[in-house]
Amino acid sequence: MVTKKIIITIDGWSSCGKSTLAKQLAKELNYLYVDSGAMYRAITLYFLRNHIDWTDKKEVKDALKNINLEFVYNKTSNASEIYLNDENVEYVIRDLVIAEKVSEIAAIKEVREFAVAQQQKMGKQKGIIMDGRDIGTVVFPKAELKIFMTADNAVRVERRFKELYEKNPNITLEEVKTNLEMRDYLDSHRQISPLKKADDAVILDNTHLSEEQQLVKALGWAKEKIKK
Ligand code: C5P
Repeated sequence: MVTKKIIITIDGWSSCGKSTLAKQLAKELNYLYVDSGAMYRAITLYFLRNHIDWTDKKEVKDALKNINLEFVYNKTSNASEIYLNDENVEYVIRDLVIAEKVSEIAAIKEVREFAVAQQQKMGKQKGIIMDGRDIGTVVFPKAELKIFMTADNAVRVERRFKELYEKNPNITLEEVKTNLEMRDYLDSHRQISPLKKADDAVILDNTHLSEEQQLVKALGWAKEKIKK
């Protein structure tokens, strides 16, 4: 029997653990995982490195023509990593310098059109899990399973701080908190594709859930949809 393949979208606030859940689900279901945020981060990296004035439409359009994004599977980390013009940028894009500008750049119409077109192409074959902010609302409005993740602010700040502190012990909790609050505000208040729960999304609040517990819940939802 051929198992039905579906599209699973995971949207939500910054540092809710979306990518952790998405990776685990992808492994369990043998699906492709795509981190849409990595695309906006890689574009931001390109703009910063090349001193692109992103308030200038023409400069943005020209710059996008020179950007090639690809996800390549890394056997060792058992995950896809993003390449910007053939350079692996999976790790540099996680820096706070990028996080400080990414929401501003992700709000630009041309940037979104560029990223969304590629995301939709990746979903053509189904059997995909994509996380981000507008995946269930704009990228795949017909996805079979839509999850909207949330968690208490303090818990999210603590999680992201731990992650960033391992790479940069000079980082402060306050810096991380300010960045998360700023991104959440900009992401949910922008004109184009703001972060919001799709009407048909299920809410997953993981403030008091372990990674295992949230995986069991999400996997249950996915299996139900696959069976239908
Ligand atoms: O998911 P991550 O935190 O890496 O995303 C970085 C930023 O990229 C978000 O804060 C948001 O500004 C932008 N983003 C977006 N739409 C998506 C995914 C990410 O606007 N689908």
